[in-house]
Amino acid sequence: MFFQEVLDQLSDMLFIVEIDEKNILRYVFANQTGCNQLGLSLKQIAGKTIGEVFYDQPEREALISKQYKRIIEKRESVTYRDQFPGPDGKTVYSETRLDPLFNEKGELAYIVAVVRDITESVRQQEALIRKNDRLQEAEHHWQSLIENNTDGVLFINKERKLIRVNQAFRNMLGISSNLEMRELREMMIQMFGPEELEKIYSLRRLVLQGRSQEYESYFFRQDGCRINLQVKEVPVIMKGEMQGLYAFVKDITEQKHIEKELRESEERYRSLVDHNQDAVWSLDLEGNFTSVNPAFEKIIERRPKSAKKPNLRDFEEEFVTPFEDVLQRYEEAKQGKSVEYNVSLYHLNKEVVHLSFTNIPIYVEGKIIGVYGIGKDVTEEVNAKNALHESEKQYRLIAENMNDLIAVFNLEGIITYASPSYQPVLGVKPEEYVGQPAITLIHEEDQPEIVSRFAKAVKHQSPYTVEFRKKGRLGEWLYFETVCMPIWNEQSLLEGFVGISRNINERKYYEEKLEHMAFYDPLTDVPNRRLFEKLANQAIKKAAQSRQEMSIMYLDLDKFKSINDTLGHDAGDELLRQFTDRLKGSLRKMDVLARMGGDEFTVLLPHTDTTAAREIAGSLLQAIRQPYQVKGRLFTTTSSIGIAFYPQHGQTVEELIQQADKAMYRAKQGGRNSFIIAD
Ligand code: GH3
Ligand code: MG
Repeated sequence: MFFQEVLDQLSDMLFIVEIDEKNILRYVFANQTGCNQLGLSLKQIAGKTIGEVFYDQPEREALISKQYKRIIEKRESVTYRDQFPGPDGKTVYSETRLDPLFNEKGELAYIVAVVRDITESVRQQEALIRKNDRLQEAEHHWQSLIENNTDGVLFINKERKLIRVNQAFRNMLGISSNLEMRELREMMIQMFGPEELEKIYSLRRLVLQGRSQEYESYFFRQDGCRINLQVKEVPVIMKGEMQGLYAFVKDITEQKHIEKELRESEERYRSLVDHNQDAVWSLDLEGNFTSVNPAFEKIIERRPKSAKKPNLRDFEEEFVTPFEDVLQRYEEAKQGKSVEYNVSLYHLNKEVVHLSFTNIPIYVEGKIIGVYGIGKDVTEEVNAKNALHESEKQYRLIAENMNDLIAVFNLEGIITYASPSYQPVLGVKPEEYVGQPAITLIHEEDQPEIVSRFAKAVKHQSPYTVEFRKKGRLGEWLYFETVCMPIWNEQSLLEGFVGISRNINERKYYEEKLEHMAFYDPLTDVPNRRLFEKLANQAIKKAAQSRQEMSIMYLDLDKFKSINDTLGHDAGDELLRQFTDRLKGSLRKMDVLARMGGDEFTVLLPHTDTTAAREIAGSLLQAIRQPYQVKGRLFTTTSSIGIAFYPQHGQTVEELIQQADKAMYRAKQGGRNSFIIAD
């Protein structure tokens, strides 16, 4: 009983199972702890089989039976673990040791089961495992954070030895990922160079004393590229002990590059503004000047008066241009419009300067924050332009008020300028004439000459004068004399010609009249001796070529002197005119009547043989015989005719005339009013 008391106090459960000859197992004892665990009293347990005790826990019964079977078979101690719901419903973990007890015959008689509640230690173990898992997870996160970081991460131990680097840092160095740490360290020493390394090492000393450091550094990659770095180094302290340091490295090459470009572009801009010959300024939205360049001070000489920060409105008095216009343009630029306009300003010495102003809105992040101004001094240009305008005006005045035509034409003979006088003289608008060939409106007969003279002048680059007819405003032909002068460009290359055309109609009229006078008889207006001889010569040549006959008549009025004497010289003249008309009326179109002088006439009869000539002479005499009416008086007269033929009576005009004259003389002698053919 003493033993039972002792056993009851054990914290382990203790069961004793008896084995009968049929190998049936029955509980014979359970200590207090065991009873409590099963929720049964010893009385309830004793004598029961495992199946009976665990009738409501078949799985547990199977497990326990299996273990008991093992010990029966092996006859050795068996240990196993188990878990089951405790009286309070919570899982109880147990470790069971089964020990065999043999009788003196060496047969297995009892099995002692000591079941230890290991719930506590299992829970602790589980907690430990879970903790370990969490630790591993954290470690994993940390690893991933470092490995996948786009910045380079390095771990350096407290002996300042590089222990680990991540892939990002390897990429920065431009080296392969399978390079060993030792090689990597050597390469880094090369890449950074002694100077940078010394700087880094001295800073690192501070980090290992517990002070984080941030610095910039650089190295040269093997391809020669300079890589700029921003580095942050932080100490790693665990449980108060320095472990080493982490270095976080950022590649700021691109950023540096952009910064440099920005700086350069700003410098360029500065230099553009500061050294600009034009005035450059900027205004804020209130019209205050925020900057002006040196040229501004020079060009827009401001009277020294105002406050530190001048305003656009302070300049009102300086402007010759209406100031509202200036403000208006400034407002427009503030609305986002770039504007260009001309202004005039008073200089200090009261001279007016002309400026070309440009106003441009200043955008910062898409918002207009002010207006840039650029002022270019264009005083000289404006003055020159004004002068040019003046002289142009004068030229225009001259051009518009003269009758000469002025045209400029290029080397292709195309008009590039035509003076206003084209309109009144030719009825052509100058602007319509431009672009047309210079020979437009020129008489077809005159064109070949003009074209060849122009070609020659282009070749020799020389001036020339031509005369031609041009169709006038009313469709009449106008005579022009045109003086053409070459035009050279700045490179001394012939560019075209300027032609000044003068109307020479009057001159032409007199010239023609003179010419007429030289060849026509002034009284009767029939050809004179000169023209007759010329035409007769041509006719002889033609007749000779075509082997045809032709003839010449010589006429002389009979007793003309008496008409003069009785009726007066004027009446004589009148008779001569009427006589001429009669002859013309009886002659063919191809025949030529001429007055040789006095009352003597000749007739050229081309293609005319004797028979035809006789007929013509007969009809002439007949026509002449008809009465004339002169000064209200009727009277008759006659004429004598001599005829000579080519080629039988002579080879030349003189010979033929002479022969005809002779024959005429014979007709006079024969009684007049008749014709005689030369011998
Ligand atoms: P004949 O029959 O012999 O020819 O007698 P004729 O009177 O006609 O004599 P002739 O032919 O010799 O004289 C020509 C005259 O014509 C001489 C001159 O007085 C006259 N005469 C010459 N020229 C002119 C002229 O331009 N006008 C006028 N009215 N008479 C002229
Ligand atoms: Mg006569």
